[in-house]
Amino acid sequence: MFPMAIHPIVIYGEPVLHRRAEKVTAFDEGLATLVADMYETLEASNGVGLAAPQIGVGRQIFVYDADDDQGVRRRGVFINPVLVASKVPETRPDPVDESEGCLSVPSLDFPLKRAERVTITGVDEQGRTVSLSTEGWFARIMQHEFDHLQGTLYVDRLDKRWSKKWKQAQAANGYDVPGKSWMPGVDPDPFGH
Ligand SMILES: [Zn+2]
Repeated sequence: MFPMAIHPIVIYGEPVLHRRAEKVTAFDEGLATLVADMYETLEASNGVGLAAPQIGVGRQIFVYDADDDQGVRRRGVFINPVLVASKVPETRPDPVDESEGCLSVPSLDFPLKRAERVTITGVDEQGRTVSLSTEGWFARIMQHEFDHLQGTLYVDRLDKRWSKKWKQAQAANGYDVPGKSWMPGVDPDPFGH
């Protein structure tokens, strides 16, 4: 057994966040430890989802831990997932109800329109098929985490107006160069949780 560990979370600008993650092929003890570390890191960061590239590992894995729209807590992992989403509405995002944040873009949030419904299918760390169909806020989390595995962050998807504000905040925070990270449970919580 390997000891579990909380990992530092890398910040926008780190190359691993911006390229497509590789498929997992070995379902071994190393993978089980990595997934356990990801749950621990997610919990320490007070987030609702965490993708492997966010801890510097370019593989198609994400974990989530959040309440769905019915108030039911859902916690799990998707490895090598496939996502099918309904059409993203072309209306403007609501700045309050549709604001999104990311552990790799600390202390910022921006409104973004997402698909209302998704079905996501993948496997867990033991290679067993996992699948869920969900809507609303939880569907947003699934889209956000799935995007991470494609090398896309939510700020890369913002509409023209919000993208402009992001570019300003990006420059002001220095989120445009590699090598930055923060440590959950050690550094101050960037979202004040
Ligand atoms: Zn994120």
